[in-house]
Amino acid sequence: MIYLDNAATTNMSIQALDGYLSVSNNEWANPNSAHSFGLTSKTYLDEAIKIICNYINCEFNELLFTSGATESNNMIINNINKLYRSNYSIVTSKMEHESILNPLENIQGNVIYLKPNKHGVIEPSKLEDLLNNSENIKLVTIQFVNNEIGTIQHIKSLANVCKKHDVLFHTDATQAIGQFEIDLKELGIDFLSASAHKFNGPKGVGFLYVNDNIKNIQNLMFGGHQQNGKRPGTINVAGIYSMAKALENRMQQIDIIKNCNELYSDKIENMLSRFNSFHINGKSVNRSKHILNFYIDDLDSDFILNELDNLDICASSGSACSLGYSDFSNTLLSIGCSKWIAQNSIRLSFDPLINSESDINFTISTLINIIKNHV
Ligand code: PMP
Repeated sequence: MIYLDNAATTNMSIQALDGYLSVSNNEWANPNSAHSFGLTSKTYLDEAIKIICNYINCEFNELLFTSGATESNNMIINNINKLYRSNYSIVTSKMEHESILNPLENIQGNVIYLKPNKHGVIEPSKLEDLLNNSENIKLVTIQFVNNEIGTIQHIKSLANVCKKHDVLFHTDATQAIGQFEIDLKELGIDFLSASAHKFNGPKGVGFLYVNDNIKNIQNLMFGGHQQNGKRPGTINVAGIYSMAKALENRMQQIDIIKNCNELYSDKIENMLSRFNSFHINGKSVNRSKHILNFYIDDLDSDFILNELDNLDICASSGSACSLGYSDFSNTLLSIGCSKWIAQNSIRLSFDPLINSESDINFTISTLINIIKNHV
């Protein structure tokens, strides 16, 4: 099998699996228990927190552990909703993941959608204009890396604009963490969401970074005193430890990962661009090269995916989460693509920890055959 759907989920690394098993097998006590067994479990939790903080440059008390980015994204939006009730606005874009767009449909406040340019970039100057001319905007939420076309947003500039206007800034970094270095102190953002399974960790674990300056986080769930009562429930030490080990393993090889993603993406682009019917979506901007999105004139995405699947190549059309719900990619529509393109584009997403260059070569020759035989 050639698995090129790593933006949907990744394979757990050996380091993450070992971490999960060793904590589950040996140190499975509740880290909030006062006995020695519990205290040992707590040392694993603390080690995991230190590892994660080290790689994203934040403080020990700035992480809330959740079940993943969906929960983290919901948590931040519902927090603002609880705090301000109805008389407020949140700014976002139509390129966001459903775990941002759908909770926003369920708040009492107003939602303002910033329009990206044709490459999928949200221009900080547009945000500045909006904040100069609007009142009562309480939160701006813009993803770090788009999950369909890989566009990297100008997060530091967007956060700076928000800071200038005293507006909170959140980024959904689900497709960014583990793809390149992230320094939260340098970026100056208020909140960030992440999911472990996008960087070779286990599913069902993630975190919300909350800048220590923010003091008014609301309780959305009520229960025990874990995580200062902000996200109660017995802490998943094995999952969190495994997530930390997954991140550590990726960051230790981050240059190799970035170089391979670039090599894979550029090779496919170069080899296929000589066919006039092959087009990349969201080209010529700063892209996280683990994602490549394209369409082939006159060929349905179902047909291409089937041809690839017949040769055991796993790819996807758009985001895996939308499958079966909408035929059209919100992201592609929002950057001005036609409905046909938004319905028939293909996403290849790479993880150099499991994809080799020969996987990419085989995929290129398969795509060339598809074009030669069917266009
Ligand atoms: N945000 C983005 C950008 C994503 O790609 C995903 C997963 N596809 C999510 C949020 C949700 O992550 P999870 O399913 O792990 O909660």
